[in-house]
Amino acid sequence: MSKQYYADIIIDISHENLDKTYQYAIPEEIVNDAAIGALVIVPFGKGNRSINGYIVGLSEVPKISRELIKPIIRVVTEAPMIESHLIYLAYWMKETFGGTMNDSLKAVIPVKKAVKIKEQRMLQLAIDQDQAKQLYYEYQKKNNKARVRLLEALMKESILDYDIVINKLNISRSTLQGLEKQGVTKTISEQIYRNPIKNHFEQSGAVSLNEEQEIIVQDFLQEYEAGIRGTYLVHGITGSGKTEVYMEIIARVLTMDRQVIMLIPEIALTYQTVQRFYKRFGDRVSILNSKMSQGERYDQSLRAKNGDIDIIIGPRSALFTPFQKLGLIIIDEEHENSYKSETVPKYHAVEVARKRAELTNASVLLGSATPLLESFQKAQTGEIKYYSLKKRAKEAEPPRVWIVDLREELKKKNKSIFSIKLKELIADRLSKNEQIMLFLNRRGYAGFVSCRSCGYVVTCPHCDVSLTSHNDGTLTCHYCGYSEVQPANCPKCGSKYIAAFGTGTQKVEELIKKEFPDARVLRMDTDTTKNKGGHEEILTSFSQHKADILVGTQMIVKGHDFPKVTLVGIIAADLSLYCGDFRASERTFQLLCQAAGRAGRDVLPGEVVIQTYHPEHYSIVTAAQGDYEAFYKQEILYRTLMQYPPIAHILLLLITSKEEEQAANAADILGNATKLYLDKNDLQAQMIGPAPAAISKANDIYRRVIYVKHKDYTTLIDIKNYIEGYYSYSQQFNGCNLQFDFDPMIS
Ligand code: ADP
Ligand code: ZN
Ligand code: ZN
Repeated sequence: MSKQYYADIIIDISHENLDKTYQYAIPEEIVNDAAIGALVIVPFGKGNRSINGYIVGLSEVPKISRELIKPIIRVVTEAPMIESHLIYLAYWMKETFGGTMNDSLKAVIPVKKAVKIKEQRMLQLAIDQDQAKQLYYEYQKKNNKARVRLLEALMKESILDYDIVINKLNISRSTLQGLEKQGVTKTISEQIYRNPIKNHFEQSGAVSLNEEQEIIVQDFLQEYEAGIRGTYLVHGITGSGKTEVYMEIIARVLTMDRQVIMLIPEIALTYQTVQRFYKRFGDRVSILNSKMSQGERYDQSLRAKNGDIDIIIGPRSALFTPFQKLGLIIIDEEHENSYKSETVPKYHAVEVARKRAELTNASVLLGSATPLLESFQKAQTGEIKYYSLKKRAKEAEPPRVWIVDLREELKKKNKSIFSIKLKELIADRLSKNEQIMLFLNRRGYAGFVSCRSCGYVVTCPHCDVSLTSHNDGTLTCHYCGYSEVQPANCPKCGSKYIAAFGTGTQKVEELIKKEFPDARVLRMDTDTTKNKGGHEEILTSFSQHKADILVGTQMIVKGHDFPKVTLVGIIAADLSLYCGDFRASERTFQLLCQAAGRAGRDVLPGEVVIQTYHPEHYSIVTAAQGDYEAFYKQEILYRTLMQYPPIAHILLLLITSKEEEQAANAADILGNATKLYLDKNDLQAQMIGPAPAAISKANDIYRRVIYVKHKDYTTLIDIKNYIEGYYSYSQQFNGCNLQFDFDPMIS
């Protein structure tokens, strides 16, 4: 007797028991078809009625007594595999990142019920041309003018738009109904897909690649054509020609009859980018973005599924485009925050892309000027293949970077938030009629306390991240809950200039107008961009040089190109450096590199001024030199020392409730349960907290956190599964909500 295999199956996605898997036996004759993701028919429930299921796991071990396990009835091989794949992907996401199957399905298949598709009714002859001609003469004889008009048109055009027939040919509905009844005409309806790219662009060919680009393209394609699949990283500064590399690779992948998903940050999804792709690939391309209606988005997924398009460009959600022959997923600017989902399941697009690629025999191509530490580390170990582009494609001088020590300004009696150097350069640019960007890399909430005289920042003695100041005069660590009273004098130099650090964009705008009353100033932050399109409006008017200075948060350093910007000022690099997050240095390095990349993109050379109390900090020094590898070496040391990702991994439990006490209680109970589980299983994991979250209250909801650290991701998944089970079976958590987040961003 041959071996008996079993399949774990989730049953039909409309079923309420979505989060449970059921085990079925795999009959020998279907063993080859019963793969993970396959759609199967199984007997279910008391009446053993046949129901759809999806295989999400395979094993040789029965979970209950063999005799009780029912066999799968059949595998539906004729069904499109794409749904099965995506449903399996959703299942994998739920298992890997937490949450329910329903949460995952919502992320993967966002429009569950078909939105009404625009339909176009068309009219055709139901008879042949000879019969039509005969009828035509008959109607003429009877002087039936409407029928004559219609037959004439139909014999000429063979198919007509229903609305045109009624409105332009002036034929009544009853006439049409009559003809249809007699079998003369028939109405057919065609779905028309809304195509979001309305403009017609002229097609244009490729540029000829430079040597660096050519080497990457050749190497990638050689592997691809040999059937090798994997993950690749293109590390190259903005303007080094990554997009040209992507397009060249895409072109070849398309000729091999495979399809492509290209993720770009929403903010970079500008007219220019779309135009570039459209010019090269014509209407085989479509886009997804958050401004599109549900219907429009749904249409794009239908077009993809039917093979009407081969390339989709969009933000994180485009990852789930139902291409049947997916061959490549590109993630541009892979370090962007927006690739991490903020809602459950809190997945990272890079990880899900790699999983989807694995399922469909596709490759993943990541691109960035400042790769995620995780990706660069994988490139170092060889898990990801590394390519680099060192030169800018168009000759442009790298900007000159000045690091200004703000402690010196105080000594020079300059009390302004603008250093002497920055003021001098602003005046210079204004006199030359060039443009300036002033950039406040604020993370919004976390207020840290620092000394204006020596630069000392109060940090947690256990976690080595900055403490966050609260209204009640205390400083707390949001990782471990450590708390202390805010000191009146600097513990390092004794000066009294120690206080919470805070400047807003509005303040900067106000002060710059005071210093330079003649300058035209625009401000861009969450306040000024609340209205739909506000964002685009400000950028457009700045690019048309309707203002000299643009003040803003990180929003301003992304996307658009401004050839006349020759000066970028970073008001306080410390704002992102001390935001109480273990990724603070990485984030700062990325932001500074990005901001520097804004200055002097065209012929005019650029300058960058970085103001800081920590001019010696490695994030700032290496960003000023544009030296990613030097930054990486320092940062990975810190992560190793503190056992932060990617060296170890962190599982965050976020517990929320409308009642503060409830949240605190639940966090305590879960903390105890976790601790017991860790001890009982002798897991060498470290539990930190419970503690109030960095944002301890938002929208009247109280937030508590627990962190669990372990070197293996899979162990953390086991811990998550245990807590998830414990939480859902206990009655103690009424009124609370629990979310999981792996290697979290600040919460
Ligand atoms: P990135 O995606 O790395 O920011 P792009 O691909 O957008 O870089 O290239 C920057 C600019 O240089 C674009 O205008 C692009 O058309 C141009 N460019 C890139 N590669 C070449 C090349 N080999 N020859 C000529 N122009 C190029
Ligand atoms: Zn001091
Ligand atoms: Zn701490």
